[in-house]
Amino acid sequence: MNKVLEVLNDFGIVELRPPQKKALERGLLDKNKNFLISIPTASGKTLIGEMALINHLLDENKKPTNKKGIFIVPLKALASEKYEEFKNKYERYGLRIALSIGDYDEDEDLSSYNLIITTAEKLDSLWRHKIDWINDVSVVVVDEIHLINDETRGGTLEILLTKLKEFNIQIIGLSATIGNPDELAEWLNAELIVDDWRPVELKKGIYREGVIEYINGGNKEIEAINDNDIYNLVVDCVKEGGCCLVFCNTKKGAVNEAKKLNLKKFLTNKEKRKLKEIAEEILSILEPPTEMCKTLAECILNGSAFHHAGLTYQHRKIVEDAFRERLIKVICATPTLSAGLNLPCRRAIVKDLTRYTNKGIRPIPIMEIQQCIGRAGRPGLDPYGEGIILVKNDRDYLRAYQALTQRPEPIYSKLSNQAVLRTQLLGLIATREIRDEHDLEWFIKNTFYAYQYGNLREVAKNINEVIRFLEENEFIVDFMPTELGKRVSELYIDPLSAKYIIDGLNEMENEEEIYYLYLISKTLEMMPNLRVYKSEELDLINEMESLGIKSFEIEDLEAFKTAKMLYDWINEVPEDEILKKYKIEPGILRYKVENAIWMMHALKEIAKIIGKSSDIPEKLEIRLEYGAKEDIIELLSIKYIGRVRARKLYNAGIRNVDDIINNPSKVASIIGEKIAKKILDELGVKFGQQKLNL
Ligand code: ADP
Repeated sequence: MNKVLEVLNDFGIVELRPPQKKALERGLLDKNKNFLISIPTASGKTLIGEMALINHLLDENKKPTNKKGIFIVPLKALASEKYEEFKNKYERYGLRIALSIGDYDEDEDLSSYNLIITTAEKLDSLWRHKIDWINDVSVVVVDEIHLINDETRGGTLEILLTKLKEFNIQIIGLSATIGNPDELAEWLNAELIVDDWRPVELKKGIYREGVIEYINGGNKEIEAINDNDIYNLVVDCVKEGGCCLVFCNTKKGAVNEAKKLNLKKFLTNKEKRKLKEIAEEILSILEPPTEMCKTLAECILNGSAFHHAGLTYQHRKIVEDAFRERLIKVICATPTLSAGLNLPCRRAIVKDLTRYTNKGIRPIPIMEIQQCIGRAGRPGLDPYGEGIILVKNDRDYLRAYQALTQRPEPIYSKLSNQAVLRTQLLGLIATREIRDEHDLEWFIKNTFYAYQYGNLREVAKNINEVIRFLEENEFIVDFMPTELGKRVSELYIDPLSAKYIIDGLNEMENEEEIYYLYLISKTLEMMPNLRVYKSEELDLINEMESLGIKSFEIEDLEAFKTAKMLYDWINEVPEDEILKKYKIEPGILRYKVENAIWMMHALKEIAKIIGKSSDIPEKLEIRLEYGAKEDIIELLSIKYIGRVRARKLYNAGIRNVDDIINNPSKVASIIGEKIAKKILDELGVKFGQQKLNL
């Protein structure tokens, strides 16, 4: 038997699915042939990528070859998930597997790994620090390659693919069903596999006034237990042993729906007990638990949950696991976040067909709706899946019908996006991949943009503007990077953000911490900033004036409000207070803080180059990381000590590692014996062996 099939057999895959067979028949194992696989969600795309990886990375004796593979995923959380899965499956063959999702400004040595799991942005940033192992790479799998269509992130993936195409690398693109797979395949010089085979039958229907009308014929009347249609649809499914996903167009909508879905009546006593434990786990993550944690815990006791970007990573993970275990019966989620989520259910319900965007209310793309309903049907668990759109009027009915029956939208290059072009062109010049106008022209001609639009006039105008901007601001001179340009490219930030920072540092009239936080909040990487209400404007302007800030456009006010939030964070204002004051959720606070750490690092590095570094408070970056004042930083470096515990200890006179080791009983009396034990274990001290020192 072929080694690839042998390996699949090792972990229990005995029969290939039709699209997988098709890929093999069309030459997937021919190491020089690119592929674009455009098949429905959950039908086994990843395994096609894995077959290509096995083919390159293992020899006939199932031992590692000297080749490398890269697996590109759209989100860090998915990368971690895939990393765990691939480690479980492939380490036994001696493959060394790396997860690379850390800081962008990092010269990470991955030369000794066989398989690297990463995101497009991280790979791009590694490239800027020079990857001398790129010639060893012989296969790259790109999961969710249709993200090339994404307004802000698509261009990075496109440039990466344009570069990869130049190497002797087999590229395997995995895509959701899209409107123009042939175009993408032709650009990639790839064999195209399109198939609508699904592991479980998907019944599509429209729900209106108590009845599901199935597209392929037939109706089902849904018992009206109360006047909440979603509740009735969910109960109908749960009563038959199924689980549901409900897709709402806003985070708030998802929370509100989840709150209304009380399924206690349908839970067994055992399930109730387990859900209680899960609710307690939810409450233990943030100390003290926030309002949102409490709401989520209450929902979980009822057998429901919500899932969106406002939750922290740990919260989401708990919700996902409990849903997979079928303890939580329904999750209300936003479609954007769920696109890459592997959470199958029996009935997927789409509640909204439109949503607010920065261009006003817009229909949700058909591709997204089809991905949502494609979640329905768990192989081996459900006899069939159901994708249901809920409608209230004739206009929505028509839209729903189209969304269920039509081809999804075509995808388009987003390379005309100026921010992407600025960052990417500086990167290409800094790494000397583009050395003159001729290189530039040649490179652009190979992009998906050029393939799709043929006429390069529009993009040429944008490119010339960007080159002029890079020259005027001394990032490049005659297609050579300056020291500043090279460093900004490595820092992996938009050159325009670097310019804001440089201008801000040059103009600054004081050295207040909040001013530095304001400077980073003005960068594009921090967008969108917090919204400013009319009633807040005057106070913000007064405060800004007192710091010597002279510009009061709405973006400036929003940046300043964000800076104030970060300032509260580093000064230990309780998390719940911050969330209430700035009307945000814990997940968003974390996301903002993460970006702020990255941008503060960039600010410090840029300041060094322009000779301004001596003024910057040294510990700002680390304070952002911990959300704390300077005095408790040492305590915070210890596992299990967060900012709340650290402050309690510090106030009681426990101020460093030695104090903890020498005063275990005191530590236990302040933060509880259980945690104290864990901390002492972490520090290599056995709790019981310590002299009690109260
Ligand atoms: P996709 O990437 O298309 O969303 P996945 O590759 O994650 O879907 O596949 C969904 C599930 O089906 C996974 O649990 C995977 O292990 C399983 N699977 C894929 N191919 C096969 C197969 N040939 N036989 C049995 N299970 C399979």
